[in-house]
Amino acid sequence: MDFFSLIACYLLLLAVLIFLLLFGEAAIFIDTPIASLHWLLFSGICQGFWWLVERSAGVHGKQVLERWRDKCAESSSPVLQIFYIVLLAVGFYFYTVDIFCFLPQSYAPTWHIYTGTFTLGACLLAFYTASVSDPGRITADNVAAHCALYPYDELTSRSGQQCWSCLWQRPARSKHCPACKRCIARFDHHCAWINNCVGLCNLRYFMAFLVANMVLCSYGLALGCIIMHGVLEERGAWTIVVRERSTGRMYLLGSRPRILLQWMLQQYPVPVAELIFLGVALLLVLGFFAYHTWLISRATTTYETFKWREVARRLRAESLAEHADGQGQENLSLSAAAVKGRLWPASGQSKPAVAAPQNIYDKGFAANFRDALIPPSWAGRKAAVQAKKNL
Ligand SMILES: [Zn+2]
Ligand SMILES: [Zn+2]
Repeated sequence: MDFFSLIACYLLLLAVLIFLLLFGEAAIFIDTPIASLHWLLFSGICQGFWWLVERSAGVHGKQVLERWRDKCAESSSPVLQIFYIVLLAVGFYFYTVDIFCFLPQSYAPTWHIYTGTFTLGACLLAFYTASVSDPGRITADNVAAHCALYPYDELTSRSGQQCWSCLWQRPARSKHCPACKRCIARFDHHCAWINNCVGLCNLRYFMAFLVANMVLCSYGLALGCIIMHGVLEERGAWTIVVRERSTGRMYLLGSRPRILLQWMLQQYPVPVAELIFLGVALLLVLGFFAYHTWLISRATTTYETFKWREVARRLRAESLAEHADGQGQENLSLSAAAVKGRLWPASGQSKPAVAAPQNIYDKGFAANFRDALIPPSWAGRKAAVQAKKNL
């Protein structure tokens, strides 16, 4: 398989995974191979892993591993933060030594060294801001203000629930982060890369961090391609004739992309490897950015998507129970079915219709972005308390 087929397969696989993650549980795909694949990838493999652990190491071994996992999830660690900074520093060093060294060129002037350094600086600044920003910490002073911000939908957020660590009423859409050991308003997720929670007050900084990484990767990739194109022109590479090892045939270097790439990997292995790395990193960050943009447009969070899945499972199970009772059938083991991802009767039986629950936080596309990216100021939160009192 040549390099271009490999890249095409990679892109296809990435697209399939994103599609399965986003739409695998949609009602339209229930009882289809798409729903089964979604369950296999996002639940089945995990369950299979724990089953294997129990079989091979016994119940005690499984418990030890579970405790170790919980300990990792409940501790905040700067390991990935340090890894990110080292990755950027090492990457920039090699880029300077192996790609910037060709400047100036007819296609790329020397000032790209300064703009490239500035882009790296902007990326580090976005990383620092996202790492130290307040995600929306709930304290004894502001818990009333946070309780007034969002109403309870009684599906993903239930009224009257208490945070057992902080001992106060949990505001709607909040969660106690086990790693940071604090309650976070409109909790999205705990990001290990910035070693900080992402929530009500810093989602915009987190998105800016993703955008800065996308700009850095795409700028580095485009500039690197332009510089290497200039290098090939200066060497007159388009007129070089090479022999293909497998067939023994002679080809003009510029006539076949595959042969050109093989030749470049021999002549410039480090710059080509760096550009491939930038391309892969760009795709990953792009996928992550697209996922979060999709969540914002639907007025939901990463944490709430798990809650919505639970709600959908419960509603389907309840509906199925009523349906089965109505038909005089034997009641199905619904909880077991839900665990296995089978939420409907076997094929051949009719399926009950379930009305999709309404997301009360969804105020429309533009309003959702405004709500997510412009958090209410302290005065705005106090005004919400007053408005709630006046009701
Ligand atoms: Zn708490
Ligand atoms: Zn956290």
